[in-house]
Amino acid sequence: MSIKENIALIKKEIAEAQSRSRYAAADVELLAVSKTKPVAMIEEAYAAGQLNFGENRVQEILAKAPLLPYVHWHLIGHLQTNKVRQIIDKVDLIHSLDSIELAAEIEKRAAAKDINVAALVQVNIAEDEHKFGIKKEELGDFLLAMTDFGHLQIKGLMTIGPFCENPEAMRPVFKAMRLLFEQTKTTAPPNIQMQYLSMGMSHDYMIAVEEGANIVRVGSSIFGVRS
Ligand SMILES: *Cc1c(COP(=O)(O)O)cnc(C)c1O
Repeated sequence: MSIKENIALIKKEIAEAQSRSRYAAADVELLAVSKTKPVAMIEEAYAAGQLNFGENRVQEILAKAPLLPYVHWHLIGHLQTNKVRQIIDKVDLIHSLDSIELAAEIEKRAAAKDINVAALVQVNIAEDEHKFGIKKEELGDFLLAMTDFGHLQIKGLMTIGPFCENPEAMRPVFKAMRLLFEQTKTTAPPNIQMQYLSMGMSHDYMIAVEEGANIVRVGSSIFGVRS
């Protein structure tokens, strides 16, 4: 199947997942994860109406962005503090805010450039020691520490689930994220928005949508497997 057909199929499956679940969000955004994939494939997806693309490495966005000036980029991988300055004005959304140090660095660099930077807090909901992200219990204090930030704008939560052969096994993880998201909406300081819940990838995005994701990050089901 072509990239265009893959995108059409995924959108159809997202719509079906929305219609069969009462927890599903009204609007779900498909983020096309284009890491390791060539510019020509991104152009093909763009021609099929795809506007937002996710990459997990700063260097890859910096290399691709000048060739694709009309594309909107999301950074979905771990961000080192020493790369913050280079990337903050190139991306629409950082999904991987995972430490106070990183948040402070983004705030400082965004203030220096006089720009706003939108980010999601990465939550390590399954408490996987091999993954980045803050623990669920730490989220309240984490957001409180950001109360005075005027340039870094928190817009929601993101999680990378553990890989499970059976996507159904992810449901409790996604459900726990939705509950955390809903709860944080009512308890977070006023400058924190809980607008986006980013979860679900190629093998489990339908379950994520059923459980309330409003951004799904899909790579291999659009562009084919990565080598
Ligand atoms: C690679 C990646 C994805 C997409 O993975 P696929 O299984 O190819 O859909 C989603 N989120 C993150 C954070 C990734 O690094």
